[in-house]
Amino acid sequence: MEFATFADRAAAIEAEPADLEIVARVATLLEDAADGDGGRTVEVVARYVQGRVFPAWTSRTLDIGPSACYEAIARAAGTNVSTDDVEDRLAEVGEIGDVAASYDFGGQRGLGAFGNSDNANGGGDLTVLEVDDTLRELAAAEGAGSQDRKVDLLFGLFNRCSSDEARYLARLVLSEMRIGVGEGTVRDAIGEAFDVPVEAVARALQVSNDYGEVARVALGDGREGLDAMELEVGRPVQAMLAQAGTVTDALEDWDEAGVEWKYDGARVQLHHDPDGVAVDDADATVVDDSAGDTRVFSRNMEDVTDALPEVVEFADDHLAEPAILDGEVVAIDDDGSPLPFQEVLKRFRRKHDVAKAREDVAVRPVFFDCLHADGEDLLEEPLTTRHDRLEAVLREESGQEPDEVEGLSLLWRTDDPDEIERIDTDALEAGHEGIMLKDLDSTYSPGRRGKNWRKRKPDVETLDCVVTGAEWGEGRRATYLGTFELSVRDDDSEERRSAGSAVEPQNLETVGKVATGITDEKLAELTELLEPHVASEDGQTVELEPAVVFEVGYEEIQTSPTYSSGYALRFPRFVGVRSDKDPEDADSVGRLERLHE
Ligand code: AMP
Repeated sequence: MEFATFADRAAAIEAEPADLEIVARVATLLEDAADGDGGRTVEVVARYVQGRVFPAWTSRTLDIGPSACYEAIARAAGTNVSTDDVEDRLAEVGEIGDVAASYDFGGQRGLGAFGNSDNANGGGDLTVLEVDDTLRELAAAEGAGSQDRKVDLLFGLFNRCSSDEARYLARLVLSEMRIGVGEGTVRDAIGEAFDVPVEAVARALQVSNDYGEVARVALGDGREGLDAMELEVGRPVQAMLAQAGTVTDALEDWDEAGVEWKYDGARVQLHHDPDGVAVDDADATVVDDSAGDTRVFSRNMEDVTDALPEVVEFADDHLAEPAILDGEVVAIDDDGSPLPFQEVLKRFRRKHDVAKAREDVAVRPVFFDCLHADGEDLLEEPLTTRHDRLEAVLREESGQEPDEVEGLSLLWRTDDPDEIERIDTDALEAGHEGIMLKDLDSTYSPGRRGKNWRKRKPDVETLDCVVTGAEWGEGRRATYLGTFELSVRDDDSEERRSAGSAVEPQNLETVGKVATGITDEKLAELTELLEPHVASEDGQTVELEPAVVFEVGYEEIQTSPTYSSGYALRFPRFVGVRSDKDPEDADSVGRLERLHE
């Protein structure tokens, strides 16, 4: 297929407002690209319509900056056009495609020009595959003089372009295609063009992460070919994502919820094969022993292996079979306690001085999912099965007990809100972010942000409540006050406040009790703070003078006969002490009422 044809079609697609018509046009473009070259052009076109030169799974880029592209355009545009002129025009027009299309190309001599000067400004003889071969050559240029070589190659291409061709070439090179073709469009178009079910295309896309390859296979081998596509160890999969959600909703939606700690780190996907993982080799993946047994990818499928030697060592020590694991890498201090997310970032994309950075901040991986184990793809298995496999894979080599498997994120299965609260408190106590709620029956959906994984929603609006009571703890917490009774001011208290009188116990109405979100260390601190205010004790229960204000989060405010305010907080959690506030400044029943509404 000529590149001019591609450019023509791209222009028509860009001008088309209707989604269905866009799918039809992309489908026709793919069909017409099937011109007996084993699907090579189809493969390239399926990527180009989305503005991609390389498959989504590879970290490879053209490695050419905008200014090099402007320079190539300027050179192809003629001796009287400078890179600055191109930039000026860009500032005026705002879009590189329009800028490139505004020049008359062709006829410029120089290294890399293909001597096609009689074709000045006409374009028309450049094929899609020639463009692709040249861009790949450009991407591969490395070392001294490579930037010049890249500009030369690109100049050679622009020099052979018509206006429309130049427009789409410039956009492709700068990853700004923007003709309204999204991933769903190409998926549907592949189905339509090659008469294969869209679900089969979607599945093949999930495992391969390459629209080009899927289009070629659909053309060549149809549905059977697509169904035979599998995950490959070494080729990253898009990460499944989470939505915000509440415990209330999770327990309503599912019989039992899967509950895990939420680690505050950076997402990693670990690919390991003791016989060597597949690596990117131009158009395909090949297993290259010398490339090592492990690859680590970021959430965006960037290869971050070299920055994280601890993860590679972990894989060598713990994995005896090929596997793809999904998890989080967390920065830790000398005793292994987690450090804030910012610390991980210091390590994550580091290219130089990795050993030194490792001395400053150590990292540790924790895995919560298993996408592939020993030749078997698990994407379509329920979470419980995948997690069992994860545990087995991690234990196999080490023979550790289930509750102390290194690098395993534990998955609790429960329908008991109190137990979920306990898990949440333990997570916070261990220095983690909170909890994730997962549908135990759900499959792994790459790239999807759905309801099957929910991160517990941060509290929307917190309340400031007066602590009016507490209970002495039990066991190791016997010397700590806990389970704090929370109250808000009654509705008349505003008047009294203006009159300058203090809040008395009778001016307060209870709204609930908070016992979660508090670490042992914090309990000790709170006990010290509250003990001087104990008004009376009855067994384990104490009454407190109104003195201390807690900031409390919650999932919901419900009407309730249990508490004197007439409201109750659902899943109240301790956020902090408002030492800057007196009971007079606490929230009132009126605010509860408004928030409830
Ligand atoms: P967020 O980044 O706030 O959208 O939260 C989702 C992210 O939490 C995921 O992409 C993971 O990187 C991270 N995460 C931490 N712990 C877990 C876990 N147990 N399960 C799934 N994701 C987790």
